Amino acid sequence: MPTITRREFLKVGGAGAGALAVSGLGFDVALAESTKVKQSLRIAGAKESHSICPYCAVGCSLVAYTRQTSDGKTQLLQIEGDPDSPVNEGRLCPKGATAMQLATSPRRVGSPLYRASGATGWKSVSWDFMLDKIANNIKSSRDATFVATDGNGNSVNRCEGIAFAGGAAFSSEEGYFATKLMRGLGLVHLEQQARV
Ligand code: SF4
Repeated sequence: MPTITRREFLKVGGAGAGALAVSGLGFDVALAESTKVKQSLRIAGAKESHSICPYCAVGCSLVAYTRQTSDGKTQLLQIEGDPDSPVNEGRLCPKGATAMQLATSPRRVGSPLYRASGATGWKSVSWDFMLDKIANNIKSSRDATFVATDGNGNSVNRCEGIAFAGGAAFSSEEGYFATKLMRGLGLVHLEQQARV
């Protein structure tokens, strides 16, 4: 009668359990393998660019794969977690894992939207219009709320009517620049999502 060692028994048993688990979940091993091969081909030869997930203060690193199309456009093929990052070590949460949709989703808003005071709907406007509008609103709010001296006659020169919130995607330089600009306008209400 053939004998089987404990090690061989566990090996056979483990493979059987694995197969059962896989088929129990409805996976087709061959299909999973072919998808893997297809994915590796999809990004083969693509340009690799590194970036940061814009969604939260954790600041997970991303790798974006792009390719030039025959008409000279840049095609985004894939975005995934950067395995070299000490922050996320290649992982992304479900929100970060959808980062590619920021660029490719058909539901993405392609231009600034403006809803005038009293209007019931949004309308698509140009960047020139929107930047002028923001600049004018900042100017009028600052003029209306600027405080030169406090109640005790101390010179304070501050703007109390505007607040500024930075985003998690800010680099250190962008954060520095934004803070300088806002302090230059006299803002005292500054906040930054990334408190790391
Ligand atoms: S992947 Fe998730 S945890 Fe990481 S920065 Fe993006 S939103 Fe935050």
